[in-house]
Amino acid sequence: MKKIAIFPGSFDPFTIGHEAIVKRAIPIFDQIIISIGHNITKKSFFSEKKRKELIEKIFEQEKIVSVEIYEGLTVQFCKKRNAKYILRGLRTSADFEYERPIAQINKILAPDIETVYLLTSPEHSSISSSIVKEILKYQGDVSKFVPQIIKEELNNE
Ligand code: ADP
Repeated sequence: MKKIAIFPGSFDPFTIGHEAIVKRAIPIFDQIIISIGHNITKKSFFSEKKRKELIEKIFEQEKIVSVEIYEGLTVQFCKKRNAKYILRGLRTSADFEYERPIAQINKILAPDIETVYLLTSPEHSSISSSIVKEILKYQGDVSKFVPQIIKEELNNE
């Protein structure tokens, strides 16, 4: 059976930390669906449609990576796409505490779905979309934190 993973997140904007997680997951899975969900607690920078376009461009050479926008529970979306894995990145113990109840409840809701964590590399562990957004708010330079395609988009704005 094909190993399909959903990589859910807001990805607003997509950072080099997100990119590294996807690249490391490519040898592990047969298909990876980067899944843009709503996070009601976060104010959006790029529209979901724009995020999808940009992430698609970043991975246009990677046949097994696709990007979708979804609504509802992540486990429901997994079932729709026949995905048995939820991929997440772990940066800090705070990430772990945030992720733990979500993964444990998801396991009760959908026992056949596993959440798989990749520990971030040290150089990416301080990078977050929220910090990137904060820098952008004051016209700061985020070029060291986002992929080239995102940089170009920001320069065109
Ligand atoms: P969410 O709103 O679901 O937290 P994010 O877009 O912030 O969405 O993050 C999506 C996933 O990517 C999460 O698993 C998060 O821990 C992970 N992630 C975010 N930034 C990094 C990073 N710098 N290195 C590794 N993983 C990261």
